[in-house]
Amino acid sequence: MDRTGVASETRKSPWGSVAPAAPACSLADVMSEQLAKQLDEEDATFPALTEPGADLLSSGDAPETTSDLMLAKMLQMQFDREFDDQLRREEKKFNGDSKVSISFENYRMVHPYEDSGSSEDEVDWQDTRHDPYRADKPQTTPRRGFVGKGKNITTKHDEVTCGRKNTARMDNFAPEVHVGDGLGMDLKLPNQVFNALKQHCYSEQKRSARLHEKKEHSTAEQAVDPRTRLLMYKMVNTGVLENINGCISTGKESVVFHADGGSLEEEPVPDEVVLKVFKTTLNEFKNRDRYIKDDYRFIDRFSKLNPRKIIRMWAEKEMHNLVRMKKAEIPCPEVVLLKKHILVMSFIGKDHVPAPKLKDAMLGSEDMKNAYYQVLHMMQQLFQECNLVHADLSEYNMLWHEGKVWLIDVSQSVEPTHPHGLEFLFRDCRNVSTFFQKRGVSEAMSVYELFNIVTGLNIPVGAEDDAEFIAEIVALEKRNEDHVQRRGKKTFPIDSEDVSPPSSPGAAD
Ligand code: ADP
Ligand code: MG
Repeated sequence: MDRTGVASETRKSPWGSVAPAAPACSLADVMSEQLAKQLDEEDATFPALTEPGADLLSSGDAPETTSDLMLAKMLQMQFDREFDDQLRREEKKFNGDSKVSISFENYRMVHPYEDSGSSEDEVDWQDTRHDPYRADKPQTTPRRGFVGKGKNITTKHDEVTCGRKNTARMDNFAPEVHVGDGLGMDLKLPNQVFNALKQHCYSEQKRSARLHEKKEHSTAEQAVDPRTRLLMYKMVNTGVLENINGCISTGKESVVFHADGGSLEEEPVPDEVVLKVFKTTLNEFKNRDRYIKDDYRFIDRFSKLNPRKIIRMWAEKEMHNLVRMKKAEIPCPEVVLLKKHILVMSFIGKDHVPAPKLKDAMLGSEDMKNAYYQVLHMMQQLFQECNLVHADLSEYNMLWHEGKVWLIDVSQSVEPTHPHGLEFLFRDCRNVSTFFQKRGVSEAMSVYELFNIVTGLNIPVGAEDDAEFIAEIVALEKRNEDHVQRRGKKTFPIDSEDVSPPSSPGAAD
């Protein structure tokens, strides 16, 4: 038979006249091996059937279908279609809702006209010009019926080729997506599956890009361990922070980061915040035990906790102390959030520039004098209103911002009833006095005067002898401890009636 003849005939609706023209023809005949072979040979002459919508259903000038071959082909197609339908049903049943499906494709009597239906309504990535994942060299190796008939004839209708193409395209997914050797095992990804995978990769990529962008800005994040990084990312992800920008300070016990605030439970977080990350390297904290293990607020918990949790307690302690200070209106960072060993608080400074430490601030004499009186007042407030001793007060932990001294770094602060509380306070006083005296503040009191004025005690300032003064302080602490033991509870006796300063009569016992 003339091939071109068949081709042109079939292109005009062979179905159109099946009913009237079909002569009796047994299926057995059609299925004969000889015929099948013939069909195979004629395969290439079927291009017209790849456009079912266009040709098969048009009823215009129907061709004569008296030819046995034509009928045989039609019947064969009918049979194949039913077979494929059945196969599809089985495939569907087999795969169910599983995201990874097994394809029965190889067993199909593939007739190109069949394969359009399923994904017509979906975005078809193969046909999308802007497919970001378009393979460099898409594998278009049609096996039959794809001779150039304009852009309507495409691989779209061949699930096998399409599936392979989809599999090949997976190589273009982001490098972190492990797609396996799909091509090696001749995986044929149906459009839906490919689309779903692609969509997933796309959104994953966007999410990770978002995180990366934040991360890029802060190379210093490497200074903290992965657990901490994860916590920090979570803060960004949940929107508490907009951005983590970089490290302000790395100390022995903590790393401080600058970050842009987002919002927390619909409340806005300050525009600029710091994250104080308490270091989880435990060694650094060993020598700080004494600040916390005798602090009655934490004493019960201290004995029961593992070292990691103790480090969290440092963060918690700083938070509580800051809250107390804020209540007394002492200038200090405002607590935003505590997450394990990370404390988020407001930033003292402006436009990413932290306020200078008092040690570094270039202050005129008037400002310096002012600063001194502020510090004096703050120490009194801290002791008397907040019931706290800073315990690490120095020009390193005071910032100069907007004409004010701000107190920071209060994780080690204790209550005055702490067995060494007054000694800590004495040390603070010494730091403060020495600093301001050195900076030429003539009004700066001696350490002893300062101590007395902060505590309201009246320890005699005799021969300006440290040892004697400290001995008095230790005696006071001891009396307080005894008192506590007798009473079985912690109270601070200094300003209570039953304890008077050692200098007064009757104070000796
Ligand atoms: P450390 O225990 O490591 O000394 P600090 O709380 O003193 O921790 O913080 C270290 C440094 O980080 C400070 O000296 C200060 O420069 C900076 N810093 C800490 N908190 C803030 C804050 N809220 N605003 C601005 N800078 C801060
Ligand atoms: Mg500090």
